[in-house]
Amino acid sequence: MTDEMTMAKRRLGTSHWDKKLVTNMVALSVSNDYEEAHKEWIATGDVWWRGQTDNIPTWVQQNNHPMKCLCGHDIVYHFRIQNTENGNEDIVGSDHINSYLIIRAIAKETGMRPDEITEELIQQWLNVRVKGMKAEAWWAENGKSFELMFNTVKEADLRYNTKVKDWKYNYGTKRNEPVYKLIKKASPTDEMASIVWRWNHPDNSRAQINSRGYPNEKLMYDLSVFYIKCLTGLNDQLQAEKLAREERIAQVAEQQRIRQEEEARRQAEYAEIQRQRELERKAYEEKMRPIWEEEARQREIKRKKAEARERNDLLLHMATHGSKADKMIEYYGLEPINWQNINPNLSLHDLRTLHRYINSDMKNLDRSDLRRIEEITKGDKE
Ligand SMILES: [Zn+2]
Repeated sequence: MTDEMTMAKRRLGTSHWDKKLVTNMVALSVSNDYEEAHKEWIATGDVWWRGQTDNIPTWVQQNNHPMKCLCGHDIVYHFRIQNTENGNEDIVGSDHINSYLIIRAIAKETGMRPDEITEELIQQWLNVRVKGMKAEAWWAENGKSFELMFNTVKEADLRYNTKVKDWKYNYGTKRNEPVYKLIKKASPTDEMASIVWRWNHPDNSRAQINSRGYPNEKLMYDLSVFYIKCLTGLNDQLQAEKLAREERIAQVAEQQRIRQEEEARRQAEYAEIQRQRELERKAYEEKMRPIWEEEARQREIKRKKAEARERNDLLLHMATHGSKADKMIEYYGLEPINWQNINPNLSLHDLRTLHRYINSDMKNLDRSDLRRIEEITKGDKE
C-alpha cells in the first residue's frame, strides 16, 4: 500500500535518465527488481551544492561519479542516499531525489507512518535542506548580472511600473502632479508589477530577497525585459523628465524671487514717496506756521472784541430792563439784584443765562434755574 502511494507521488517515467537510474540503482541493490530494490534506499538528509568548492564533504569526494547523478545526468545539488540492506551509498540530483527516499527519511526521523507523510512535508524537508544552498548557488552564478540589471532599472521601475493614484498640488513646481503607486501585482492591462516591490521593497513583507533569497523566474524575466527597455530609451526618458522637473522648480523659484524683488522695490518706492510727502508737509507747515499763528491771533482778537461787545450789550440791556424781573425775584424769595452793578467778572455764559431768564419774564422757572440765578448773583455780592 505504501508503495502505490509513494509511486503515485513520483513515478519514474521512460525517459533516458529515468531508465538509467533504474538500471544503476538496481545494480547497487540486493534485489534485482527495481520495484523491490528502490525500497532498500533512503535519503540521509545530507545535501551538497557544487558551488561550495571550499567545503566538499567526503561522501562526495569518495563518490565515483562526481558532479553527476546516479543516472549520469549533470547535477548541481547532491543528495546523499543509502541502501539500508547492503550499506551502499550514492548520490542523486534534485530530479531523482524521489519522494519515496524522502518519505522513508521523514518516517525514520519522526516515527510517522509513510501514508501520513504529505507532499507538503516532503517539500518542507527539501526546502530546509536546499533553500540556503539554492540561493547561494543562484548568487554565485547570477549575482553580478542581477546586481547590474537591478541597479540599472530600479529608479525607472519605481517611476514607471506604477499607477497614478492621485493628483496633488506641488508648491515647488506650482502645478498638480501625479502621485504614483507601485504596481504590486500586475493585472492583464499592466505591463509588469514593480521589480523593486517584488525584490526588496521594505514595505513588502513577502519580498523575495527575504522569502527566497534569490529572485524567482518571473522576476528575472521581467527584470531582463525591463533592463532592455531602460537601456533603449526609458532611462533617458526618466532623466529627461527629472531634468525638466528640476528646471521647472528652478524657474518657479526664479519667478518667485523676481516677484519678491519687485514687491520689495515697490514698497521701497512707496516708502520714499511717503517720506518725500512728509518732508513737503513739514516744510509747508514750517512756512505757513507764522501765517497761521497770525491768523489765529487775529481770530482771537476778533473773538475777544465780539465777546466784549456782547458782554457790554448784555450788561446794558440788564441795566435798562433788569428791573422788570425784580417782582419775580422777590416772589421766588431770591436776593434782590442790583442791575446797574452786575459783577463784571461773570462769564459770558452766565451773563447770557441771566439775560435769558429776565427776557422770559422769569415765568415757569424750575428749581435748577433758581439755583443758577442764586449762584450768579451770589458772586455779584461778594
Ligand atoms: Zn538522475
